[in-house]
Amino acid sequence: QGAEPWRDFNRSKVYMADLESALHYLLRVELATHNTLEGEELKVFKDFVTLVAKLYPGGVSVVKLMETLSDWLLSLPLQRIPYQAVLDLVDNKMRISGVFLGAELRWVGCQSSRPGLRGYPCALWTLFHVLTVQHDATPAALENTGLEAEAAPVLQVMRRYIRTFFGCEQCGRHFEQAAAAGMDRVQQMLWLWNQHNMVNYRLAGSLSDDPLFPKAPWPSPSLCASCHEEKNGVHVWNQDNVLSFLRHHYGVSNLSPKYSL
Ligand code: FAD
Repeated sequence: QGAEPWRDFNRSKVYMADLESALHYLLRVELATHNTLEGEELKVFKDFVTLVAKLYPGGVSVVKLMETLSDWLLSLPLQRIPYQAVLDLVDNKMRISGVFLGAELRWVGCQSSRPGLRGYPCALWTLFHVLTVQHDATPAALENTGLEAEAAPVLQVMRRYIRTFFGCEQCGRHFEQAAAAGMDRVQQMLWLWNQHNMVNYRLAGSLSDDPLFPKAPWPSPSLCASCHEEKNGVHVWNQDNVLSFLRHHYGVSNLSPKYSL
């Protein structure tokens, strides 16, 4: 395969094409490694689909697909679902009602300078940051889903998804450790931001680092100057400003439809 064309993008935006590609990859590649979904796996998958159906911002066709998938999963009396049935639904729905989920991966904010870097893990982080912000803006969206009783529903669903399905097992272990240390009474947006920065610190300079996108504490001063402060000569985060920045950066009004279907 030839190299993909470089897509111009703006680091201060979030791209719907990345979120759509993450769902495409998740449904068609990551899940495909499981022949059947049953028991705990099935429950984790159902909760993930419900969460996205309720909180995904923008992109009517994606929401429709996830709602259809969610209704279908909830209506099935089966304890065990072949992966092929999920795929059929995703593909057939797509054919009947026009394009729901792109048939290809288009990384934009998550594109890399070399194949094999960035892409899906980058877009999965992005998706969950967006979902924490969306949940904060519309908490009532989860009413009557069974998820509303959880203290930090987006983080709990993410934790279970990562533990059960995420291809990188080492990542799953690290994330589970952090989650197990407690996320009951946490502010979801800030918890995820902080956890993501912990991973950035750990990975800085490692082989998985794309030289064009070196791992660094985020947001950089150029993205958010007021997020950074100095106290007694030591760098500290201004968490109130980080929170406002997260709401803005991962909020609906900062989502770009460029390159999206
Ligand atoms: P990513 O870290 O994927 O970030 C994507 C985008 O999010 C960035 O471009 C930036 O715009 C934004 N961003 C960056 N930091 C933050 C922040 N703190 N808050 C909000 N937004 C931010 N890889 C490993 O090698 N070992 C691991 O243990 C590991 N654990 C992972 C755990 C999870 C849950 C996930 C989803 C991924 C994990 N990965 C791990 C993969 C790794 O974190 C990166 O996703 C991957 O290396 C690609 O990096 P990236 O440069 O695209 O930026």
